[in-house]
Amino acid sequence: MSVQFYNTLTREKGEFKPLEGNKVRIYSCGPTVYSYAHIGNFRAYVFMDTLRRVLQYNGYELNHVMNITDVGHLESDADEGEDKMEKAARKENKNPYEIAKYYTEIFFRDMERLQIQKPETIAKATEHITEMLEFVQGLVKNEYAYETSRGIYFDISKLDQYPVLSNRNIDEQIAGARVDVDEEKRNPYDFALWIKAPETHIMKWESPWGLSYPGWHIECSAMGRKYLGDEFDIHTGGIDHIPTHHENEIAQSKGLTGKVPAKFWMHVEFLQVDGGKMSKSLGNTYTLDQLQEKGIEPLAYKLFCFTAHYRTKLNFTFDTALSTQKALNRLREGFLKHQEGTTDISNEKIKEYEDKFLATINDDLNMPAAMGLVWEIIRNQEKSKQYAKLLAKFDNVLGLDLTNSKQYLEQAKKVDFPKEIAELLEKRKQARENKDWAMSDQIRDELKEKGYSVKDTKEGMTVEKI
Ligand code: AMP
Ligand code: ZN
Repeated sequence: MSVQFYNTLTREKGEFKPLEGNKVRIYSCGPTVYSYAHIGNFRAYVFMDTLRRVLQYNGYELNHVMNITDVGHLESDADEGEDKMEKAARKENKNPYEIAKYYTEIFFRDMERLQIQKPETIAKATEHITEMLEFVQGLVKNEYAYETSRGIYFDISKLDQYPVLSNRNIDEQIAGARVDVDEEKRNPYDFALWIKAPETHIMKWESPWGLSYPGWHIECSAMGRKYLGDEFDIHTGGIDHIPTHHENEIAQSKGLTGKVPAKFWMHVEFLQVDGGKMSKSLGNTYTLDQLQEKGIEPLAYKLFCFTAHYRTKLNFTFDTALSTQKALNRLREGFLKHQEGTTDISNEKIKEYEDKFLATINDDLNMPAAMGLVWEIIRNQEKSKQYAKLLAKFDNVLGLDLTNSKQYLEQAKKVDFPKEIAELLEKRKQARENKDWAMSDQIRDELKEKGYSVKDTKEGMTVEKI
């Protein structure tokens, strides 16, 4: 069945076919590890995960690279401000490598909690300085780059077209822009490939231009080329990457190899919070830990991401996320009911659902519609093991760990009891061990009055908040 993806480069949906055989080569722009990743960032990686899973579901093999930006990402995408890593190091009184290590570890722990598959190759910028330097030297040799007192810049006027990804009209923008005028730049939109390091800069390397460090965009061009070749299948990122980062990656590759590196450019829209932008100053850049404190599991956040198509804005509120947590538990209960079911469902019916699911995910990853189908199966009055099997198959795309539903539900029931309640429960347990049924019943009634319902089952005592 044909797979259709929206391509930012062509501004339309088109059929996806790998460049070579059955193998899909993908590059995803990864995190800048100067701070905790927030739920907005994770929307981008949930999208990346869904893309991987959909391609695998279609039988493709993946060669997927994601970078870790641990140097060169300045505070503004337009080469202004401090390096984010150095700034964080100064603030936390650590060295930038320690900062990178700490936040990278937490990032991957969170990725696991979201059941996001790890790309085949994780490439750190600081481990690819040689490749980046060679790339820049190649651009200088091809006369696409020039030196200023600040660093090495890419000359966009050498290209046949700039920009190619975004619709922005450079001339209009230049006319009305608050451009920081760098008299040494040949064109206002020329960007830094390599930056000469001030004395105080910690991360710097020897180069033909003295001690210096890479600009942000060059890492993705150099590492993409190293692991995936001059041309590969798909490049992903957030929509904020379109006008600068990806535009400049394309410029760099065209300058060196004459080619646009990827065939398909896929971009995920932003997550908003309470109807507006996420920002540190508004204090709404929530982490997965902060969601968990409010009773929202990472997987509930993943399910929440499926409520909107990846190319539309998604608005996060704690109320909707809490409803999604309840929905996730209903999904688990529904799955378990089907597992216990005995109805025989016709092969045609199962095939019909399989075909619909495949058509939906292959239509530019339409996850809201795919979830609609999943809910239809869950709600089906006829309970059947075949439906449970089908849902487990679909979970290869959802990545919600449905086959472990029982464990999640049991975990959810384990409440942290207040001291007084915990003591009563312990007293009741002892009463039952002593076969003091009158005392056991009395404590049960007492617990009920305090808002806890106790049941005695074959597996032992269960307690729920009423
Ligand atoms: P950064 O660590 O800042 O380089 O960003 C990592 C990824 O998160 C990039 O792909 C961004 O496009 C993406 N991103 C940042 N903020 C949001 C947001 N609010 N919604 C969705 N994606 C975002
Ligand atoms: Zn990138």
